[in-house]
Amino acid sequence: MPPFIRIQNISKKYGVLQAVDAVSFDLEKGELFSLLGPSGCGKTTLLRILAGFEVPTSGLVEIDGQNMANVDPADRPVNIMFQNYALFPHMSVFNNIAYGLQRASLAKNEINHRVEDLLKLVHLTGMGERKPATLSGGQRQRVALARALARRPKLLLLDEPLAALDKKLRSDTQFELVNIQEKLGTTFIVVTHDQEEAMTLSTRIGVMNEGQLVQLATPNEIYENPKTRFIADFVGDISFVPAKINRQDGDYWLMDAAVPIYAACEHNLEAGKSITLAIRPEKITLTPEASGKINEFPVRIDDWAFYGAGTQYRVTGPGGIKLKLFQSHNQPSNAQLRPDQIETGFIHFAPESIIILEDK
Ligand code: ADP
Ligand code: MG
Repeated sequence: MPPFIRIQNISKKYGVLQAVDAVSFDLEKGELFSLLGPSGCGKTTLLRILAGFEVPTSGLVEIDGQNMANVDPADRPVNIMFQNYALFPHMSVFNNIAYGLQRASLAKNEINHRVEDLLKLVHLTGMGERKPATLSGGQRQRVALARALARRPKLLLLDEPLAALDKKLRSDTQFELVNIQEKLGTTFIVVTHDQEEAMTLSTRIGVMNEGQLVQLATPNEIYENPKTRFIADFVGDISFVPAKINRQDGDYWLMDAAVPIYAACEHNLEAGKSITLAIRPEKITLTPEASGKINEFPVRIDDWAFYGAGTQYRVTGPGGIKLKLFQSHNQPSNAQLRPDQIETGFIHFAPESIIILEDK
């Protein structure tokens, strides 16, 4: 059986600009997949190619085993929900959702049924007669979603679907979007430049940079094992430490950095090579006194900020090494840390928590 969605070697050039650069990946039916990357990296262009609004310079798109090369946008089992929703302002919510169904000449009964079902799905039952202008941002977003789902596409493409919502509403809507997707089992591709959003929503994430797909993996894998410095930096907070590989020492590799650091690595490394070590703030433990653990050294606390669930610190250690730390407040040992009363301390981190990046 071929994969449900197959994207093979898709490229798009605008003049000399390579907007999409040899992107390949497969999706399974029912996945909620995110395309994540900074503005201008080619996400929207790739969506438009899938929807058929843009012809790729080269490459192949297959949906459900069918080559899309000569299939018009209207004939693809695909719908796209745009960033700005583009609801018809003069039409009621009902007619906005029914629009595509009326154009497809469905029977009136069938249309009424479907629209009522969709209103229920997006929690807007009873709002069918309202005009978009009388709705909140979150409600308008849900009308746009219902409209995009009306013709029961096999693949729904959502371009920055939550960008217009404020932060609190955005996180509620993220969960709602996941619920709806799970209920319908429709394959979703969500484009976002917001790494938290991609993490929350997706079964898998494709990270894009400068037109290329640079990593495709689960949210957890991308966070714990980013392949490049760009990805490590783009997804979550992290500190980088330049280092040189010294030698294998027991279970670990000794790294020459501002301070000697032991790192765990499952594959063989090349002694003498310059690399970058990366470590997430929550993987570092701050203690008032030394505890004798591996990778422990004294630090000066440069500043700190209270974040409700924890405190973030910036510290400087021997050789000028600078690190960001996050100490969760629900760790009993951290309850005794009083950032307003200490200026120095000790930090340690496990060799397993170090990410070794081969680029600089
Ligand atoms: P993203 O959605 O990731 O922000 P886009 O896919 O919109 O990125 O754009 C990728 C690159 O292609 C950008 O440099 C953009 O300026 C360029 N681009 C997009 N559409 C066109 C077009 N129709 N003509 C020329 N350049 C374009
Ligand atoms: Mg875009």
